[in-house]
Amino acid sequence: MSLDSFLVDVLACPCPSHSPLRVRETDVECEQCATRFPIRNGIPVMLIDDATPGPRGIGAVIGDSR
Ligand SMILES: [Zn+2]
Repeated sequence: MSLDSFLVDVLACPCPSHSPLRVRETDVECEQCATRFPIRNGIPVMLIDDATPGPRGIGAVIGDSR
């Protein structure tokens, strides 16, 4: 099992849908709300305070225009 698939299995976004995260080079990104969490020393930092919210905010689903 690769590190990436391990991380994806373990991690979930803190947003209400607890969506899977996409592992990228320097951060992980929620597939639902596009909130990004930095990876520091190879470990994703799953703290809201350190997160970069997605375009519609943490927990807001992209594409839901209502
Ligand atoms: Zn999310």
